[in-house]
Amino acid sequence: MPRISKENYYLDIAETVLERATCLRRVYGAIIVKNDEIISTGYNGAPRGRKNCVDLGFCTREELCVPRGERYELCRSVHAEANAIISASRRDMVGGTIYLVGRDARTGELLHDATSCAMCRRQVINAGLEKVVIRRTESEFEVVPVQRWIDEDDSLPER
Ligand SMILES: [Zn+2]
Ligand SMILES: [Zn+2]
Repeated sequence: MPRISKENYYLDIAETVLERATCLRRVYGAIIVKNDEIISTGYNGAPRGRKNCVDLGFCTREELCVPRGERYELCRSVHAEANAIISASRRDMVGGTIYLVGRDARTGELLHDATSCAMCRRQVINAGLEKVVIRRTESEFEVVPVQRWIDEDDSLPER
């Protein structure tokens, strides 16, 4: 058995984390790694104590067919990246990497174009994370330098 790359090893763990996610639309798993240690994990789900999309049997964003990237407030979930960031201290995260995997909740298919939403990007930036590694296929992944999200400011009006 060939030894797995470090990236795919952490992505596999993030993929296991997403099995606990509770949204009916898309499920995500994230883990934050610093100096080869897992600092925290997160998956998308309702705030603690509130009902999840799976408990209610519907996700409002899914119900209203809201296009990707819009009206996240309609889904009950705290996103995977946000949950991982909440669980760690910034001191531990600075310079670290967040690994992200997403699947379609219904088909279970890997999302080949998964990325963080605008709100999570802001949190990733302020957590001091340096890289985002996102699974594209079972063996391929994309490494996004967080600096790119700082430079490409999606909150500025387009010109
Ligand atoms: Zn949902
Ligand atoms: Zn998000």
